[in-house]
Amino acid sequence: MKLFDSHAHLDQEGFPEGIDDVLQRAHSAGVQWITTIGSSHDTRVMRHAIDVAQAHDFIWAAIGVHPHEAKDATSDTFGELKALLGSQRVVALGECGLDFHYMSSPRDDQVAVFQAQVRLAFDTGLPLVLHCRDAHQDCLDVLRQGPLNDPPGIVHCFSGTKEQMQDYLEMGFYISIPGIVTFKNAAPLQEAVRVLPMDRMLIETDSPYLSPVPFRGKRNEPARVVYTAQAIAGIKGCNIQDVADVTVENTKRIYRIQE
Ligand SMILES: [Zn+2]
Ligand SMILES: [Zn+2]
Repeated sequence: MKLFDSHAHLDQEGFPEGIDDVLQRAHSAGVQWITTIGSSHDTRVMRHAIDVAQAHDFIWAAIGVHPHEAKDATSDTFGELKALLGSQRVVALGECGLDFHYMSSPRDDQVAVFQAQVRLAFDTGLPLVLHCRDAHQDCLDVLRQGPLNDPPGIVHCFSGTKEQMQDYLEMGFYISIPGIVTFKNAAPLQEAVRVLPMDRMLIETDSPYLSPVPFRGKRNEPARVVYTAQAIAGIKGCNIQDVADVTVENTKRIYRIQE
């Protein structure tokens, strides 16, 4: 079985000891491909993600400005982001979006930085990787102003209801399911997964965060995406192999990875 972890943060903050062992365990678990996320106002974080992708032919990078750090993004940040988006190893712009749960940056800053990245994704033709938390309606408002690519991108770490999911599906987004789907108290998400069309589904760890059961609370790593695939297979009443195959295909399609 081969799996694609569509979203992991393989950075030094999360993995100070390096990622060699982490990648070894991922391979042993069948995780053949990973997209690492370099999302920050600090362009060194973007560069590091690209470096990791350059050093490993099975890893790609997404770069952007995270909503938490919107207040610290300057015109220099955007200048450098634009230049780095031209790297061959960059397959998406993000994660970007709105997070009104933590409110680490003021709302207006978040909206402005998100709008700028929606525009940039359109101009570069790259898919968006969306992070939207407790900001569903505001995210939709920004996205509906566009302009958007077709397909526009991925809703990462989706953990909402099937009604919210429907809004994104109608806009053409892919939906990436995190380890939260294995949690006992995730009934609304499990219900959404039940009706999510297989051809729009991705899976992710969001490593080092959000470990699935039975590792909940521990540091996450790409190898554990298999537990998310297993949970989805249970919900959909299909084989884990089917979940693996279709999510690999979908992830390569949206990131436009040819191999
Ligand atoms: Zn996120
Ligand atoms: Zn993330």
